[in-house]
Amino acid sequence: MPEPTTITTDTLIVGSGPTGLFQVFQLGLLEIKAHVIDALPYAGGQCIELYPDKPIYDIPALPRCTGRELVSRLLEQISPFQTTFHLGQEVTSVEPQADKRFLVQTSTGQRFLTKTIFIAGGVGSFQPRELSLEDFKKFRGTQIHYTVPSDSAHWIKQNVLVVGANDAALEFAIQQVQLGNPKVTLLHRRDQFQAQENTLIEIDRLRQTHQLAFLAGQITGFQTHHDQLSAVLITNTQGSTQPLKVDHIAAFLGLSPKLGPISQWGLNLDKRQIVVDTEKFETNISGIFAVGDINTYPGKKKLILCGFHEATLAAFAAAAHITPDKATPLQYTTTSKKLHQLLGVTSN
Ligand SMILES: Cc1cc2nc3c(=O)[nH]c(=O)nc-3n(C[C@H](O)[C@H](O)[C@H](O)COP(=O)(O)OP(=O)(O)OC[C@H]3O[C@@H](n4cnc5c(N)ncnc54)[C@H](O)[C@@H]3O)c2cc1C
Repeated sequence: MPEPTTITTDTLIVGSGPTGLFQVFQLGLLEIKAHVIDALPYAGGQCIELYPDKPIYDIPALPRCTGRELVSRLLEQISPFQTTFHLGQEVTSVEPQADKRFLVQTSTGQRFLTKTIFIAGGVGSFQPRELSLEDFKKFRGTQIHYTVPSDSAHWIKQNVLVVGANDAALEFAIQQVQLGNPKVTLLHRRDQFQAQENTLIEIDRLRQTHQLAFLAGQITGFQTHHDQLSAVLITNTQGSTQPLKVDHIAAFLGLSPKLGPISQWGLNLDKRQIVVDTEKFETNISGIFAVGDINTYPGKKKLILCGFHEATLAAFAAAAHITPDKATPLQYTTTSKKLHQLLGVTSN
């Protein structure tokens, strides 16, 4: 694989939750283009990951909208700024450089040289929950998988155990059956799933036609053969335990947030939150701002509305940091011809 080139930018936003997205908008109004990185493969943060279809009632002037709707409106609002998203990669390191810029690296090896950083990391990056047996760790990535493995199309005729009850688990099980694998078993604690209607209907059909086996229970142990995982022990709801042959386990147990590498970037933290001032929302490192759920200051409230306010003030502070000799006047989107031009709207 060729080395990815280093991207040079004025600003980098870590996190594409509602705050990170609105940060793009506020920076865009000040003519600052942003690159946005998120560990998840899609934008939206908690709104998409934790409550996509639940209504939110406290967004100003939007009496009711779901998490998904809010994110789609934010994405529409930032569309004039042609932002580059780098999704499915976690920011792993941030190193201050002698010229006051920061060298940022992600889990895919992508590097950025940036003048400012906005940490909009919420409750941290969402990581897949793992199976709880400690000794399973050694099979991670070879026989136990927590994301869709790139070679799973070639598992035909291997014993595949899919663990979980969400869309990701059920869709993976369906995909394996559709690839022609006759040895797919779905395992969940109980015979009840949480997924989209059409996925549930398809799972039902595959079970009734005996193309997919289902077991209600939990993995309580395993067996090996020549250091390879050969079987798992499954204890059912009545308490009896049976071995099941496995070559691969694909477990989709949801995601849990972890502060992760952010805690190692030399930032002042208070109870795993980044300490900022309330004028610029800047951290103890000049040029690094923290906005949204990730920050803390006296009176902090973890609300989307508060993240939007913080992003607005932080954008002005970043403009002063990037171009210290240039004043940044406040302009109204209603009346400013300059802002209309940036937003691609015609003024009346
Ligand atoms: C069930 C529920 C209901 C809620 N209802 C409301 C409500 O009605 N009203 C309201 O105002 N608020 C509500 N909230 C809170 C609201 O969702 C949060 O305040 C908001 O999501 C914070 O936005 P954020 O952008 O700061 O962070 P997040 O939404 O958490 O997004 C942060 C993003 O940063 C990414 N990230 C973190 N670290 C890294 C890294 N190192 N590298 C790359 N990416 C990283 C994460 O993957 C994530 O996508 C609710 C929360 C929950 C859980």
